[in-house]
Amino acid sequence: MNAVSPRPWLFDTHLHLDDEAFDLDRDDVVARALAAGVGGLLTVGTGLESSRAAVMLAGRLPQVWAAVGIHPHAAPEAIAETMATLGDLAASPGVVAIGESGLDYARDYAPREAQHDAFRRHIRLSLDLDLPLVVHNREAHGDVLEILAREGARRVIMHCFSGSPDMARLCVARGYYVSLAGPVTYRNARRLLEVATAVSLDRLLLETDAPYLPPEPFRGRRNEPAHLVHTARRVADVRGITLEELAAATTASARAALGLGRP
Ligand SMILES: [Zn+2]
Ligand SMILES: [Zn+2]
Repeated sequence: MNAVSPRPWLFDTHLHLDDEAFDLDRDDVVARALAAGVGGLLTVGTGLESSRAAVMLAGRLPQVWAAVGIHPHAAPEAIAETMATLGDLAASPGVVAIGESGLDYARDYAPREAQHDAFRRHIRLSLDLDLPLVVHNREAHGDVLEILAREGARRVIMHCFSGSPDMARLCVARGYYVSLAGPVTYRNARRLLEVATAVSLDRLLLETDAPYLPPEPFRGRRNEPAHLVHTARRVADVRGITLEELAAATTASARAALGLGRP
């Protein structure tokens, strides 16, 4: 007879549930996440429309919370008027974070000046509202850290962390949360696995970034929050703890980061 292990209760701290990739089966995606033990989801806005959609989803589904913001790819949209609208949206039930904002030098879809400006505006909004800021950072480590420090950002979630173990330690020393996504399961993930052990559990978060970045063995397919278990298992293995222990610790970190209190 097989022992029935308690289902791990994980929190997916970053996904895009409003994405059109989920248009045909969005509620099934959430149901599969719950069945897989992923009991909390933060759906993250990438623009005004996507932020509105995130707020609607958080209002409709009890396991879903929302972040509102303009992605660095769309940085020129983050003018004062848009930021004021985001501030109003942030007062909606279920909104627990600002973002995603940050810098993306890997694609450079928006001019860097516009990205810096939008990033500063999001930091100020997060400070004004005392909400955590979900930070997107691709190949912009130095500038991201400098702007966060200069603007006095306090509650910070470094989403889909891709920096070095030393950078992760610096983030933790500043009180930031470090979130790991599917790439920690990839064959060449040696440095990310070091990050996974360098970050104390009270600052460590897990995410899927679905529909993007599927963990092994789902590469090349649509990602979904149920797959978070694979990322969690890899991190638990490298830390030498059980999946249940990692789930409990990272979910507590997620709830602390997002100001949700105890479940
Ligand atoms: Zn991102
Ligand atoms: Zn994202």
